Amino acid sequence: MRKEGRLERVWIQELTRPAFEEWLENEPAPVVIIGVGSIEQHGLHLPLGTDSLGVCRFIEEVARRTNSVCVLPCWPGYSPHHMGFKGTITFRAETLLNVLLDTIGSLAAHGVKRFVLINFHGGNTHIVNLAAQLARRRFKVMVAIPRGPSQTELAKRIRYRMQRYFEVHSGPRETALALHYFPELVEMWRLKDWRNTFKVHPKLMEFMDPEREDYELVSQIFMACLEPDTDDFTSSGQYAITDPREADPEEAARHIEERIRFLVDFINLWKSIPLPPAYRCKPQPFSA
Ligand SMILES: [Zn+2]
Repeated sequence: MRKEGRLERVWIQELTRPAFEEWLENEPAPVVIIGVGSIEQHGLHLPLGTDSLGVCRFIEEVARRTNSVCVLPCWPGYSPHHMGFKGTITFRAETLLNVLLDTIGSLAAHGVKRFVLINFHGGNTHIVNLAAQLARRRFKVMVAIPRGPSQTELAKRIRYRMQRYFEVHSGPRETALALHYFPELVEMWRLKDWRNTFKVHPKLMEFMDPEREDYELVSQIFMACLEPDTDDFTSSGQYAITDPREADPEEAARHIEERIRFLVDFINLWKSIPLPPAYRCKPQPFSA
């Protein structure tokens, strides 16, 4: 620990208690970044921990650039829809919610007032949002879930592919991220005989076209008809109709860097705003 609460390490499990205390006392607006991911099947070629491994690498870099502390409270998330495939671990929704609330409640009791939640798994989204809403009221702390940037050329291009080719799970987008962050864990050779295994009614396939005039309407019908479990609509566990062997790790690197910069800007600007009066109360003891 150097002066002004400058962290030499950013993961909470690697800090000594005095190092954590010095950071909390001397950093003008201490921020804790909480990452959430999953342990779930990721098709044939990506590790089960893809989302959690990815979020760790991502928040670590953001924490370094903003002098924040990062926490990964658990490896699994909410993944009941992947249970048809072996290796998946799912928490119940209330388990994940409580893990997040207990994590925030504990650190709030020590005086942390600003939390950022970063989620790398779509199945967790509603639970993470609810945890933020409940934690703000319960612990009188600020909880942000910043997302962006969404309007850059790259972000638009990737979003288009997600809509057009349903590039959501284990397709080129996630494969590129994995090849960028942990290439040693990716087994591309398993894709030797790759073919698209995504199956929905042909009418629904026609709805996957963001250039349609009625896209707002038909895309919601598409989602309403999507079956509940991954193995209902794909035999390989992948749901992107595009070939993951076309993944471009350089694109992932650029996308990650613009998202990191967005978050760094968010945290730095947020830190310049004084704590609003309603959050200035003394930390409340937390008992699980
Ligand atoms: Zn994933």
